[in-house]
Amino acid sequence: MGEVSTRSTRSSGSTRLINPADETVVQTVEHTSVEQVNDAVARAVVAQRGWSALPPAARAEALRRFAVAVDGDNENLARLEVANSGHPIAQARWEAGHVRDVLTYYSAAPERMLGRQIPVAGGLDVTFLEPLGVVGVIVPWNFPMTIASWGFAPALAAGNAVVLKPAEWTPLTAMRIAELALEAGLPSGLFQVLPGRGDVVGERFVTHPEVKKIVFTGSTATGKRVMAGCADQVKAVTLELGGKSANVVFADSDLEKAAASAPSSVFENAGQDCCARSRILVERSVFDKFLHLLEPAVKAVKVGSPLDDATEMGPLVSAAHLEKVRSYVPDDAQVAFRGSAPASSSEGGAGFWFAPTVLLPASRTDRVVTDEIFGPVVSVLPFDDEADAISLANDSIYGLSGSIWTRDVGRAIRVARGIESGNLSVNSHSSVRYSTPFGGFKQSGLGRELGPDAAAAFTETKNVFISTD
Ligand code: NAD
Repeated sequence: MGEVSTRSTRSSGSTRLINPADETVVQTVEHTSVEQVNDAVARAVVAQRGWSALPPAARAEALRRFAVAVDGDNENLARLEVANSGHPIAQARWEAGHVRDVLTYYSAAPERMLGRQIPVAGGLDVTFLEPLGVVGVIVPWNFPMTIASWGFAPALAAGNAVVLKPAEWTPLTAMRIAELALEAGLPSGLFQVLPGRGDVVGERFVTHPEVKKIVFTGSTATGKRVMAGCADQVKAVTLELGGKSANVVFADSDLEKAAASAPSSVFENAGQDCCARSRILVERSVFDKFLHLLEPAVKAVKVGSPLDDATEMGPLVSAAHLEKVRSYVPDDAQVAFRGSAPASSSEGGAGFWFAPTVLLPASRTDRVVTDEIFGPVVSVLPFDDEADAISLANDSIYGLSGSIWTRDVGRAIRVARGIESGNLSVNSHSSVRYSTPFGGFKQSGLGRELGPDAAAAFTETKNVFISTD
């Protein structure tokens, strides 16, 4: 994470990016000013008119070229993410590959933006899916390139222009992807990445009348502010917010498999994952047995240099975030067991390291159970029966993701239907596939990204009646 220097809220300022694994300076990135946002939006308005007027097959072809350019830059994008965000290299390569896949998937959309013909009296009634114009995408720091692509790929496919603001601390991959769009031949001004402050660049996206929709991914607190700002202009908004997802383990499940897979479901990306299963709920009769199986799995998580191919977990993104995560594990915390991690700067090492940590909270209302910690900390709680499991899983303001472990098919379906969450997974922990819808219930969000309908979410439906009289 970097240090922000800003001369005033309305001047541009800059962020010095720090490598989270060793605290070396990566580079300094200048912030975009409000005036520069206005200029960028003006360019985007012009570019969008030309883009939406192109034949659908030409837009499809351009997006396929964009995907090929991203694929050709995979190793460079992955290494940028390692340096900027501390992601393990194997994970970062997957992330760059995912951006390619999201672009490839939505490159099929321009030729499939299908309207409908509706039977009516006296004529022909048809609907058109019209692009919105300019879309503003605001991205968090935890998965900088993948989350960016969930917004820009379907928005471009539907005929829009995109202005995108990466998080202050992690702009490098998004900036490189914008260069790749130009190299692939996308029109200048169609996809612009504007690094800078949330309360300057992000807020201007919200207030600018020519930005017709906001896609916001980030904290629930900022999301509420963005939504309130959008209300002023009745602006469309998609929100992907926080989570505190449950991993529900029934006594009849394959306990070995459930325990072996639990660490990756919460410690991947050092727990900085909106879908992290940070509450493991275990049927009381197998609680001790599950913990016994979980301990070696947690201790086996490979935490270390992000440049090592075998590394499974890297550092936290910043010193400030490390302090926040640490505050949830004071000296008297009820720690069941922990994995290992390199020494952080305050322990005589360098980097923002925190070992995978398993807590046994005394109460269901403890803040480690209710708050999104966004670090490698998981709470394990017992439940009594199916009804108790569902009620405990739902005892959260969030509802993003979750997993259910059982061999009883009926129970799997009942519990999946009972949990108030947008993305559930039975006997597995999958959450995000570009071909299936993703988003949250309750305060985890509003609207859905990805899947077959995402491009349509960047359009207005227009109904046209043609009289035959
Ligand atoms: P954040 O809310 O602090 O920032 C997110 C983005 O919003 C950043 O680009 C930031 O600069 C910008 N921003 C800040 N203030 C703004 C304002 N007033 N107007 C407009 N934009 C503003 O969140 P974060 O700390 O970067 O990300 C972590 C959070 O994101 C966690 O809560 C996590 O769960 C959530 N998240 C959700 C999903 C999901 O898909 N549901 C995915 C990833 C992360």
